[in-house]
Amino acid sequence: MMKRVISVLGSTGSIGTQSLDVIHACGMSVAALTTYRSVELLERQARRFHPTLVAAVDETAAADLKIRLADTGIRVLSGRESLTEAASLPQADTVITAVVGVAGLEPTLAAIDAKKRIALANKETLVCAGELVMRRAEEAGAEVIPVDSEHSAIFQCLQGNRRDEVKRLILTASGGPFFGKSKDELERVTPAQALKHPNWSMGAKVTIDSATLMNKGLEVMEAMRLYRMPLEKISVVIHRESIIHSLVEYCDGAQLAQLGTADMRLPIQYALSYPHRVTGPAEPLDLLSCPPLTFTPPDLETFPCLALAMEAANIGGTAPAVLNGANEVAVGLFLKGSIGFYDIPALVERALRELVPVPNPSLEEILEADRTARIIAMR
Ligand code: MG
Repeated sequence: MMKRVISVLGSTGSIGTQSLDVIHACGMSVAALTTYRSVELLERQARRFHPTLVAAVDETAAADLKIRLADTGIRVLSGRESLTEAASLPQADTVITAVVGVAGLEPTLAAIDAKKRIALANKETLVCAGELVMRRAEEAGAEVIPVDSEHSAIFQCLQGNRRDEVKRLILTASGGPFFGKSKDELERVTPAQALKHPNWSMGAKVTIDSATLMNKGLEVMEAMRLYRMPLEKISVVIHRESIIHSLVEYCDGAQLAQLGTADMRLPIQYALSYPHRVTGPAEPLDLLSCPPLTFTPPDLETFPCLALAMEAANIGGTAPAVLNGANEVAVGLFLKGSIGFYDIPALVERALRELVPVPNPSLEEILEADRTARIIAMR
């Protein structure tokens, strides 16, 4: 296997730190690390992995980081543009995009133009600008390999098979912390309750998205782009145990599934080692101690975010970017305790209804839709 040299965008977040576990365990090396403003952790990471470049998006944090790393000779950059520079660093062959939100879009495009392998952990990139990103990747000859557990499962189940023989993709969803709860009960839930995910340890944004099922909606759109599948060929099934990470059904009726423990390090590692498999830090699944595997359809009435995402996917154009932008704002407001749980879908729906979607949007039109959706949701 080729020894990978990796830039980790968002290295201090949940996916970022787990990526560094994998990089360490597999003996890979690091070219760049970036954070928003977690300088203490970034300093420790930099001293451990010896990148050539580190960056903090927040200017004050970057100034602090520069002083902390003054004895190391590591270049320290600041601001949004530093992500783009880290993404296209010549020393790296692979970029892990673990930045949260639409902020991951431009650095991902920069990594694609620099012909890096993209280990894509930022789902908003494909949700907002999937067609554009996949077209650019194809033109540049850059590989886009998913890190999200569901898309990694599908990617693994597609290996060695023909795409034109795929009948449908089946995304599994844990159902989040509020599975089985009624609308009445959910009216009053707090951010702390929503942050208790039953199976996965993840960042705050994606954990709230799991509680509303918006996460699954974003993943449906991501799957459409990654695998060039129409909406009708993607199904969602609730699978509480998070053991089957997703499935592919072929035209002969065979369904291939990928099973494993709920450990993000496995999909992260596969995105780095692909097409090889290597020994890594993740524990294998013990079938004999597995609970029974259960499957139920999603409840679109109690969890309207999933229905809204399907609607945006069906409209296409800038509608997914509008949905995503409004959702990012709404989740932020919910986490601050400013709005209730059902205000999240209400704000997203308001933005979707008010903004006229632009078909085949340019990057500028996508970013504009994102900005306007945020303003509407903020009102
Ligand atoms: Mg996922």
